[in-house]
Amino acid sequence: MTYQGLIHTYGHLLDLPIHSRTVSLLEGRTPLIKADNLSRQLGGGFELFIKYEGLNPTGSFKDRGMTAAVSEALGRGVTTVICASTGNTAASAAAYAARAGMKSIVLIPQGKVAAGKLAGAIAYGAQVIQIDGSFDDALTMVVEITNKHPICLVNSINPYRIEGQKTAAFEIVDELGSAPDWLCLPVGNAGNITSYWAGFKQYCGLKSAVLSSLLPKLLGVQAAGAAPLVLGHAVENPETVATAIRIGKPARGEQALQAAEESNGRIIAVTDDQILDMQKLLARLEGIWVEPASAAGLAGLAQEVASGKLKVEGKRVVAVCTGHGLKDPEIITKDMQKPIVVPPRLDALEEIILRN
Ligand SMILES: *Cc1c(COP(=O)(O)O)cnc(C)c1O
Repeated sequence: MTYQGLIHTYGHLLDLPIHSRTVSLLEGRTPLIKADNLSRQLGGGFELFIKYEGLNPTGSFKDRGMTAAVSEALGRGVTTVICASTGNTAASAAAYAARAGMKSIVLIPQGKVAAGKLAGAIAYGAQVIQIDGSFDDALTMVVEITNKHPICLVNSINPYRIEGQKTAAFEIVDELGSAPDWLCLPVGNAGNITSYWAGFKQYCGLKSAVLSSLLPKLLGVQAAGAAPLVLGHAVENPETVATAIRIGKPARGEQALQAAEESNGRIIAVTDDQILDMQKLLARLEGIWVEPASAAGLAGLAQEVASGKLKVEGKRVVAVCTGHGLKDPEIITKDMQKPIVVPPRLDALEEIILRN
């Protein structure tokens, strides 16, 4: 059977209205890649898997929720969708809206969106508007405008986004045969951690009555400069290289804290240096290049393992890598040395590559 996308595969487990008309780009079914080299680097003795969400159609996990949100919107005759975005939601909303024949409008914080994300939104035909403010300001504005006008909000406040994103938890359980011991992931607006927790509870509940012993512990990771859930209060001017989690007032913050607590896990913060070091390590040890925010979950895992606060011995850990490295190439290229230039002669090439 050819793959027909998430709603076709898991729609019976998602709370979507019957009026929904499926809009799909065959999102989901992303690989769960065993990362033995990185596991060894972190001390070894445990199984580590990367859920590589950058391989979704627009390069991030946002497509899981967007197929659900846009399908619901199309089915009730919506003609325009809108979102506030640090970039990936914008690209995803624009792509699914294009496929559904709808107009899309995206509000982004001025100058803080990675090139690959902005380019995507433009390529898919979105009307892109920069706000001279933060993501949080942009989100407030799209909520207000959708309360006033018949435009559909597709940020993760939209409940169908959460429904669609539960499918990542389903896929992990299907692949591993049960939930992992730990799931680590970046936390920005906190829709994704909320979805994973709902997804694991629902899917593992189908399989056994003794639910709690089968659920993963959640390690949610924020960037130190944008860590409202660790600090316990909103952050007015969030700052981090991990632009996808540069959010000071997470819309689903309460639910994220509750999910972490219910799971016996926690939400922690890591510095930008830790994030960028992990981004490089993952690429060099495993051949998996993710955008900075996507390395935060793993950076948090590394920190907790190194400090002895998280015992991974004999455990199975899944790290969610939320978006592709190609989204934000500038992070790598801005400090790189220009590749060496040699004349087009074999001896010149030999001299370089055989030098040491
Ligand atoms: C959106 C996003 C996040 C944060 O997810 P939330 O649901 O907002 O917590 C993390 N990484 C990437 C790449 C994203 O696009």
